[in-house]
Amino acid sequence: MSLIDLHTHSTASDGSLSPGELVDMAAKKGLAALALTDHDTLDGLPEARAAGKARNIDVIAGVELSVADGERSVHLLGLFLPERPGPLAEALAYLRERRHNRNRLILDKLRALGVPLEYKAVTALAKGAVGRPHIAQAMLAMGAVTSFKEAFARYLGAHGRAYVPKDKLTLERAVALIHDEGGLAALAHPYMLGLAGAALAEIVGRYRDAGLDAIEALYTEHSQAQTLEYLALSRRFGLAVTGGSDYHGAAKPDVELGRGRGNLRVDISVLDVLRARLARRAAGAACGEEKALDSEAPSE
Ligand code: AMP
Ligand code: ZN
Ligand code: FE
Ligand code: FE
Repeated sequence: MSLIDLHTHSTASDGSLSPGELVDMAAKKGLAALALTDHDTLDGLPEARAAGKARNIDVIAGVELSVADGERSVHLLGLFLPERPGPLAEALAYLRERRHNRNRLILDKLRALGVPLEYKAVTALAKGAVGRPHIAQAMLAMGAVTSFKEAFARYLGAHGRAYVPKDKLTLERAVALIHDEGGLAALAHPYMLGLAGAALAEIVGRYRDAGLDAIEALYTEHSQAQTLEYLALSRRFGLAVTGGSDYHGAAKPDVELGRGRGNLRVDISVLDVLRARLARRAAGAACGEEKALDSEAPSE
């Protein structure tokens, strides 16, 4: 059995290994393929690609985006991105710029709560997209909290006192950007929607209609029952399946590359099916079929 991991983070966002080290780790774990899916950035991809060539590991270019579906925040993975993305890269640069604004608002709130933190101390911890994990790390360093968990629970998490929501693309816009680059759009870690049964099916059906290609049924935090439900949804709605650990290195030390908490197995056949889907999409686009399929999607 040849194993792969299609959801990972590097120092280009909030992971602790550089893209090259991540690929080295994949080689050490015996993985055949790895997708680098940093938050809001493609900056780690050239290094990952080069390391993949050197190590004979199939590196898939990806990204993870937080998108808005009304009030709901959803994570999407873009997979199989081209070497030189255009409009997507521009949209990501804008999102990274907006992150600075959000981070400063978070620091304003922290200051009012008696946690004075200089933004320089936060950006010094980041090499690429700057986010809440870097703020948590800076809070830990100054002794304002004793763990990441405390930083998120008391301050930075959605129910924390210094929470500020992130600027997001709409789901439709994000899917369109990914498709325009020739990639596939996948719903990341569906368990985070906090839904099951008919309510979940309604949403997945709606996302499929908006152009979603795949669902990340195989994921570190999914129970066996959840995995089975998501696999059933993939069949029901004609979605491909993807899978990955969401490896962040030392930032999430209990999650192992390719193995999650020990039970994760993503077989290389998952990648073959995704690639077949990608080829179908490309062929459809070439003969105009995509237009017909997408005709219900809102135009820009
Ligand atoms: P951001 O993109 O700035 O909103 O930060 C999101 C990242 O913060 C996620 O990808 C996780 O790595 C991390 N994160 C979110 N919630 C928590 C939490 N409760 N505990 C630890 N890390 C978290
Ligand atoms: Zn992350
Ligand atoms: Fe995520
Ligand atoms: Fe992730």
